[in-house]
Amino acid sequence: MSDVANSGSPLSGAAARPRLVMKFGGTSVANIERIRNVARHVKREIEAGFDVAVVVSAMSGKTNELVAWCKEASPLHDAREYDAVVASGEQVTSGLLAIVLQDMGVQARSWQGWQIPILTDQAHGSARIESIDGSEIVKRFSERSEVAVVAGFQGMHKATGRIATLGRGGSDTSAVALAAAIGAARCDIYTDVDGVYTTDPRIVPKARRLEKVAFEEMLEMASLGAKVLQVRSVEVAMVHKVPTYVRSSFDDPAHPQSGTLICAEEDIMEAQVVTGIAFSRDEAQITLRRVADKPGVAAAIFVPLADANINVDMIIQVVSDDQASTDITFTVPSADYDRARAILEKASSTIGFASVTGATDVVKVSAIGIGMRSHAGVAARAFKALSEKGINIRAITTSEIKFSVLIDAAYTELAVRTLHSLYGLDKA
Ligand code: ASP
Ligand code: MG
Repeated sequence: MSDVANSGSPLSGAAARPRLVMKFGGTSVANIERIRNVARHVKREIEAGFDVAVVVSAMSGKTNELVAWCKEASPLHDAREYDAVVASGEQVTSGLLAIVLQDMGVQARSWQGWQIPILTDQAHGSARIESIDGSEIVKRFSERSEVAVVAGFQGMHKATGRIATLGRGGSDTSAVALAAAIGAARCDIYTDVDGVYTTDPRIVPKARRLEKVAFEEMLEMASLGAKVLQVRSVEVAMVHKVPTYVRSSFDDPAHPQSGTLICAEEDIMEAQVVTGIAFSRDEAQITLRRVADKPGVAAAIFVPLADANINVDMIIQVVSDDQASTDITFTVPSADYDRARAILEKASSTIGFASVTGATDVVKVSAIGIGMRSHAGVAARAFKALSEKGINIRAITTSEIKFSVLIDAAYTELAVRTLHSLYGLDKA
């Protein structure tokens, strides 16, 4: 089971007040003054009529420091002890926010993952949530009007009782899963940007904040390199249909601004053909020349890579002209490039190829939009526009709601800007 938040039985005594989960990232809780600002946001929502559970990250930079300490203590450390160490950052901020809320006259208490409990599988360091029992939190909403301040990023492995963490950026997943478990009307993710943009505004100054994004689009954007949410949190939001609102924690709590709502496709009235342009520099290309053109060759190449946990993304096999051999090009994450080449060299006698070449100075640029399902020729327009700029396409992949092209990294900005204008995404 994967991150299935399940409160078990239906929560008793359906409260009159709607429930809200509010999640604050590391920069939003970086010091006591910012934690006070977080508390003001929380107080506003309580006054607006919500019962609130807050999920907090560690203070910014804290988790990196804790991770580094584990590595310094021993490069090959026990993953369970790593989790005991790195989960501590969130324990600190959950307690601090509860103190600050109490100081403002708001009833509040902190919760560690094991106290709720948030139960996980045993994959220490990147565990998945299996269930959340939200009943005590909900009971305290109605009996004491008490805000639950939950440490993000952590849970407990059921069988062993050990603390487990959910992978970097995992507080997003804690928040969305908790929202599903307590039947929250919405999950608000407060962060250091004010929403999801059509593309990275640092690359394209004309990028716009999107009002709404469909779950599926957000899943593609997050997987393709948009860093605003942990990919797994979007999966959980999509499966449990939790409307998730990305917004800025630096707003004046008295005058909150709009963000981006991630919601079901049905709730988006006018779907654009293309909603966003993503890019990832984390790609490398490998080409095998003169591979035998016979059954079983693709398996001989890709099974050893899969066994080594290397994710192959784009694959191109050239039609052979001699009927005997062919070229195969594919991409792997750049972090796995050396390992992938070593594996292929080792398997060269079973695969049979003339040479292996590769490139790491490549980038994958993708266009995403649910409107692609109902429009033909969306990718074709991109190929034309890129060629007019003299940009060579090394590989292409398409799916129902996205297409990606692999190009030379030097053309990243030009390609992203070209596609952003082509699909009418530039700010008016
Ligand atoms: N503190 C954890 C991290 O830095 C979890 C999170 O912030 O979401 O990865
Ligand atoms: Mg984050």
